[in-house]
Amino acid sequence: MKTTSPQTQLIHDAYQPPAGFAAFPTPIHHASTVLFKDVAAMRSGDWKDKSAYTYGLHGTPTTFTLEARLAAIEDGQFCLLAPSGLAAIAMVDFALLKSGDDVLLPDNVYNPNRELGRWLSADFGITARYYDPMIGAGIAQLMQPNTKLVWTEAPGSVSMEVPDLPAICKAAHAAGALVALDNTWSAGLALRGFEHGVDIIMQALTKYQSGGSDVLMGAVITRERALNDRLAMAHMRLGMGVSADDAYLVLRSLPTMQLRFAAHDAAARKVALWLKARPEIARVLHPAFADCPGHEHWKRDFTGAGGLFSVVFDARYSEEQTDRFVDSLALFGIGYSWGGANSLVMPYRVQAMRKDWKGAGVLVRFNIGLEEADDLIADLEQGLARL
Ligand SMILES: *Cc1c(COP(=O)(O)O)cnc(C)c1O
Repeated sequence: MKTTSPQTQLIHDAYQPPAGFAAFPTPIHHASTVLFKDVAAMRSGDWKDKSAYTYGLHGTPTTFTLEARLAAIEDGQFCLLAPSGLAAIAMVDFALLKSGDDVLLPDNVYNPNRELGRWLSADFGITARYYDPMIGAGIAQLMQPNTKLVWTEAPGSVSMEVPDLPAICKAAHAAGALVALDNTWSAGLALRGFEHGVDIIMQALTKYQSGGSDVLMGAVITRERALNDRLAMAHMRLGMGVSADDAYLVLRSLPTMQLRFAAHDAAARKVALWLKARPEIARVLHPAFADCPGHEHWKRDFTGAGGLFSVVFDARYSEEQTDRFVDSLALFGIGYSWGGANSLVMPYRVQAMRKDWKGAGVLVRFNIGLEEADDLIADLEQGLARL
């Protein structure tokens, strides 16, 4: 399916219902055991062939429909679903890295991805090194002959630096490495990763694609068959199945994703602007704001921002005070993740997560949900009064 508008792509798919049973939703196909019509069909089955069952673990028409739709949204060709965003990250690493290889990760990378890098380094004979997310073309100096993979995240989901993706891709490709992008923040809507040069796009569908704070799922999207085949081998060998019920929940949410994303975006900018004017807040880390590191890259490469941003409190406030602020909020749940209807807040000890973090104030991240922005602002105002 090829259409020009992402919003239309979110609604239409190529699923063909059985004759006489036409309706919009994709049915939920459950299967662990699958049946072959005869021995010859069983013997000729290829688990990579998505037009027929070979085993339930390799997918059903429900999961294949979701894969096709996600690939279309990213303007990719291939998609593999994983049981979580982190599992999708692991699929990429285990498919593309082996003993003796080197992987580069941004220093602001999603923390479980950093933890996976630590494990690869400790037990698998792979080196994982961390680079300044604002390094841009300077990453050329870090490339080694055994550097096979460069992870990027745009922006980093806690400290919000927006990298210079085209410059990083150019340098990585010149040195023979592949570039993977964690495109969760943009949901594949606000950043067209392949256009900027990345080879692999990973998304946590747990966020905007689900939209319900109730599903864990990830996706790995590519454009080249040979690369997809390497990823598919890891997907198969690691047993990465996804339930058809969960896939259905994501399919059900996709048509509204762009509308939700735009609503999160508008409300988040309103709340962030209000926070920026407050004397308690030293910095607002929102990629659409001029003082966010990498704002110029956001402006050049992105078409939107979604609901996630962070603030740094003025250094005169202790963690005890900012914890009190967080605890006092009534409309913000204290929770990780984002992309659901409910607003969330989370304080981070960035100094412990980052080797190059400068600044003393406490960082607090907000996910602005779909509530009325003025109600959220009123809640924040009463919270700030308790600092
Ligand atoms: C949530 C998230 C993930 C992981 O997704 P899970 O489904 O929770 O494992 C990966 N990267 C980013 C940037 C995320 O926000």
